[in-house]
Amino acid sequence: MIAENVKTILREIEGGNPFGEKVTLVAATKTRTADEINEAIAAGVTDIGENKVQEFTQKYDFVHGARRHFIGHLQTNKVKYLVGKTDLIQSLDRFELADELQKRAEKAAWTAECLLEVNIGCELSKSGFGSEEAYAAYKKIGAAYKNIRLRGLMAMLPLEGKAEDQAALVKRMRALFDALRKEDAACAHLSMGMSGDWRLCVENGSNMIRLGTCLFGERHYAV
Ligand SMILES: *Cc1c(COP(=O)(O)O)cnc(C)c1O
Repeated sequence: MIAENVKTILREIEGGNPFGEKVTLVAATKTRTADEINEAIAAGVTDIGENKVQEFTQKYDFVHGARRHFIGHLQTNKVKYLVGKTDLIQSLDRFELADELQKRAEKAAWTAECLLEVNIGCELSKSGFGSEEAYAAYKKIGAAYKNIRLRGLMAMLPLEGKAEDQAALVKRMRALFDALRKEDAACAHLSMGMSGDWRLCVENGSNMIRLGTCLFGERHYAV
């Protein structure tokens, strides 16, 4: 079932986005076992993302052959567990976190590749830089944090909303992404799109999607 789902999605994104870019599928693996994740990797998944440090660490040695992303809210006191182990931290959402990442990465002689998280819908429940401050924050981190290498932007769409409003938000992110990329070729990823909205995101310029439910089925949280 997982393998079939992976292949279906990979086939669908094979042609890339309307901007002529390859679309990268990141499997969002929260609550999934290492066996399930390895099944997805065997079916073609190249990138996986966890959103809790504890789960990331527990599964780390049992999952093989994929690039590791961290996609959840990251507490500063847990940064140390990710140093040297993540290919891309997508949730760089505040300067306090950048400070801690810089400190830990420098000590380990490592460079943290990150996406700047933008709170595009201005939602109180979500973290991230505001869309007005994101450009300046990106430039500042790019210039002043030697052990952080920014590779693009990440955002989550509000769950509720008309398709045209959501499309407008993706387009706004895409405009910001294009402006940054013009000045910095390392800016390569616009990570937007989850199971419920990924097609709309890709149509409007996303080139990285993070899918959980679409690949693995509904999540059941242990109580
Ligand atoms: C869980 C999660 C996803 C995937 O969500 P689905 O709706 O299951 O596809 C994507 N991004 C982040 C940050 C997540 O935590």
